[in-house]
Amino acid sequence: MKYISTRGAAPVLEFDDVLLAGLARDGGLYLPESWPTFSADEIRALQGKPYTEIARKVITPFVAGSIDDADLKRIIETTYAAFRHDAVAPLKQLGPNDWLLELFHGPTIAFKDYALQMVGHLFDHVLSQRKERVTIVGATSGDTGSAAIEACRDRDAIDIFILFPNGRVSDVQRRQMTTVASDNVHCIAIEGDFDACQDMVKAMFNDGDLRDRLRLSAVNSINWARIMAQIVYYFHAAVGLGAPDRRLSFAVPTGNFGNIFAGYAARAMGLPIEKLVVGSNSNDILTRFFETDELKMTGVVPTISPSMDIQVSSNFERLLFDVYGRDAGELAEAMTRFRKTGSLAVSGNRLTEMSALFSAYRFDDNQTRDIIRDLYQRTGELLCPHSAIGVAAGRAGLEEDGTTMVSLATAHPAKFPAAVEEASGIHPPLPPHLSDLFDREEKFTVLPNDIAAVSAFVTARTRAVPT
Ligand SMILES: *Cc1c(COP(=O)(O)O)cnc(C)c1O
Repeated sequence: MKYISTRGAAPVLEFDDVLLAGLARDGGLYLPESWPTFSADEIRALQGKPYTEIARKVITPFVAGSIDDADLKRIIETTYAAFRHDAVAPLKQLGPNDWLLELFHGPTIAFKDYALQMVGHLFDHVLSQRKERVTIVGATSGDTGSAAIEACRDRDAIDIFILFPNGRVSDVQRRQMTTVASDNVHCIAIEGDFDACQDMVKAMFNDGDLRDRLRLSAVNSINWARIMAQIVYYFHAAVGLGAPDRRLSFAVPTGNFGNIFAGYAARAMGLPIEKLVVGSNSNDILTRFFETDELKMTGVVPTISPSMDIQVSSNFERLLFDVYGRDAGELAEAMTRFRKTGSLAVSGNRLTEMSALFSAYRFDDNQTRDIIRDLYQRTGELLCPHSAIGVAAGRAGLEEDGTTMVSLATAHPAKFPAAVEEASGIHPPLPPHLSDLFDREEKFTVLPNDIAAVSAFVTARTRAVPT
């Protein structure tokens, strides 16, 4: 499979190079040159198959030419054996035609595990074949660091360094990172805020000499391989509910648009999806887009669903590429205009089609708390704030739509205990594999907000520098 950049000016790459590159060199995002498609009969044949088998069917065409069948099978089986539920991504019924897809049975109890766990194994495989190593550096405000750490721990070709603001992440978040006892995991508490951490990571990547010397890499949300791995659970859920002989819609609590774009990809591959429903919190750039056809930046406000607190959804460019009829030149111009002015009135020959496929709803913190409480009272399900927004968006969409709705639950409630308890009065307990989290030994290094100190720390510890 060949991959092209949404901006049209970066080299066309095979899967393994796209995996390691992340962002394209022209600032664009990689997409497959064309979507592999499955017939209704092929999709029907997946009914009743385990998650790993559906994953192989979905992923094989995307990695063709880069990863052979036996290696892919091993990678997929190893990846999902580490998940804590036999169904990997189980479905629960909330009401008539109203289903919940639980995506929190991975090691860090959030949906990012479903993709990142596999990306860790894919990196290790491709790098060891090339006899290369990388240093992964990232910053986290608390939420996503642990998913990246769990994905990279114990991988021979990777050393990972995660920067977080000292004293400004919750105890659960910090402990999920700092209690990982692996020699290739390095947690750094920076004496500064999240912006300081992020600026430091950017500065390291912008230092060409340092970047090459340490072979810096990232596993961020624009990496194509993450989207690819997420397509699988749309197929798995849909055939579990009777697709292709039952029409379904999906509702997705959305931040960077990676998760819901995977649903769009599944549809492009032949899965009959009626509607894709975006749920947003008060950071509602996407909801406003689907109301007005205008993409307009505003400031970020903190909410009780922090993983969706974004200014611009980075993966949205992948959808815009199709809105602009895959005209990379026109899209590149539009994105430059958007970065310069903070607003973009989108036009494109497929905008009407996209507006019919997607709908979007926003919920502020008070509404989110009401939804958590109401759902608990009516169904006994205690949901995290992100997942609650997904369900509420799904219900709003269901009223308009009439098909079967599947809402994606993106994190376990115990990942956001304070917000859940405030809403419901119930303190959500951690699942068994994390129940001793507060007894485990922590390991992290406090460093000053100083790029020289951090670079020296990373240089001294990474194995990517030949000795
Ligand atoms: C990352 C995240 C989201 C947003 O997903 P995107 O792919 O960025 O749209 C939603 N909920 C939770 C819990 C997350 O961690």
